[in-house]
Amino acid sequence: MTSEFREQLYIGGAWVPPDSSERIEVENPYTEQVIGAVPAGTAEDVNLAVSAARQAFDGWSALPITERGAALDRLHQALAARAAEIARTVGLELGTPLKIAQAVQAGLPLTVLRGYADLALRQAEEQTIGNSLIVREAAGVVGAITPWNYPLHQVVAKVGAALAAGCTVVLKPSELTPLVAYLLADAADEAGLPPGVLNLVTGTGQAVGAAIAGHPDIDMISFTGSTATGRAITHAAADRIAKVSLELGGKSANVILDDADLVKAVKVGVGNAFLNSGQTCTAWTRMLVHRSHYDEAVTLAAKTAAGYPVGDPFDPATRLGPLVSATQRERVRGFIERATARLVAGGLDAPVPDTGYFVAPTVFADVDPESELAQEEIFGPVLSIIPFDTDDEAVAIANNSKYGLAGGVWGGAEHALAVARRIRTGAVDVNGGAFNPLAPFGGYKQSGVGRELGTFGLEEFQQVKAIQR
Ligand code: NAD
Repeated sequence: MTSEFREQLYIGGAWVPPDSSERIEVENPYTEQVIGAVPAGTAEDVNLAVSAARQAFDGWSALPITERGAALDRLHQALAARAAEIARTVGLELGTPLKIAQAVQAGLPLTVLRGYADLALRQAEEQTIGNSLIVREAAGVVGAITPWNYPLHQVVAKVGAALAAGCTVVLKPSELTPLVAYLLADAADEAGLPPGVLNLVTGTGQAVGAAIAGHPDIDMISFTGSTATGRAITHAAADRIAKVSLELGGKSANVILDDADLVKAVKVGVGNAFLNSGQTCTAWTRMLVHRSHYDEAVTLAAKTAAGYPVGDPFDPATRLGPLVSATQRERVRGFIERATARLVAGGLDAPVPDTGYFVAPTVFADVDPESELAQEEIFGPVLSIIPFDTDDEAVAIANNSKYGLAGGVWGGAEHALAVARRIRTGAVDVNGGAFNPLAPFGGYKQSGVGRELGTFGLEEFQQVKAIQR
């Protein structure tokens, strides 16, 4: 087992000492104990990583895409061999319950990386339009900045696509959950990726993130995180017109129509809202229910929430772990404290373990669609239920958001599909349609710019050139 105390950065294909001796401690949000540490990187470390990525770019981007596919295949193998360690590490640094850590925190990035390796191994065809030959080329040196809630998936969604496209990468993971990114760097080292193709610099957003966003030799920034930081990064990139792709927050609606399978819609809806303790950008945090089923839905949602097993992430029975940090818990508690809607489950007085940054699974009914509860991304286990009378009203409430990331619709197949088409978000699941890791993922409005995953995600990291003949 590797240590959770990491003292070096991965730059130019080697483990190198950081510029500064300062460290960032990593806390386990369940035990509230320090369990590891990583270097607090500096702008100097970023400079070194960017020059390594720049040096590697010409050779890596000139390779046939199938050769990069073969390298990604090796990377996938090396990462897959670490699946148990990935789940354990994310359990320790984020507090994700073990089963979800195995299935989602480890399983999903492995699936996504496999997908990118396969895409690259299937040589992309060049295209002809009239007298033009259309060729796809790598966007350049990429700065990848990621958050803490799905710490490996969010990294791999960027790194897999960028490397397949021929880009080279400087990666800065979240300072709250940096350890799992080290497992990716270990795998890259073992897989023999050419030096400089993938570089890891840990540190804070202010020091390392800002240095990446403003770096003159970075061609593209791929960012996942809060809308506020996305805005700051876009400003920093604007001076040099660097390409920016952003995966930001959400406030997704789960619309339960009059002809829905109510029990299934509510149970799956509550599970979706509370996945990863509600720290999920696509979480269906607003449950919109047709008036004819409203009272029944509120009762069922409250009962489902009250029965959620909360506790030790490493206990196999646990479904809801702690929030990532004390700060995040206080933020979420603030939303609950200020709420004026009807509390039907959880709340600040509900019992939770004494140690660990827990918030009880909480449900509010009769939530005003204009209120803070319904408008702001809470990023905790807090569900808001809102009644509606007509499809038009449901669509209007669902779209009454600055965000546009995801959502759900439940009802008769054609009816639900018709409503799904009217929702202004990058994804909508009809009657519990499963997450598809090859489908484009991204947001409308303030939920982001660009798409990740599958061919759409790959194209995000490519330039297109038209050669006239
Ligand atoms: P955050 O914006 O605070 O941090 C994200 C990353 O940006 C971190 O690595 C951080 O160090 C870095 N950063 C912070 N300030 C920076 C700056 N000025 N310049 C450059 N980098 C900077 O977000 P978070 O709290 O880590 O994550 C939670 C947020 O992420 C939520 O709002 C959530 O909705 C969003 N999110 C979106 C998606 C998506 O795909 N749309 C996925 C997961 C999370």
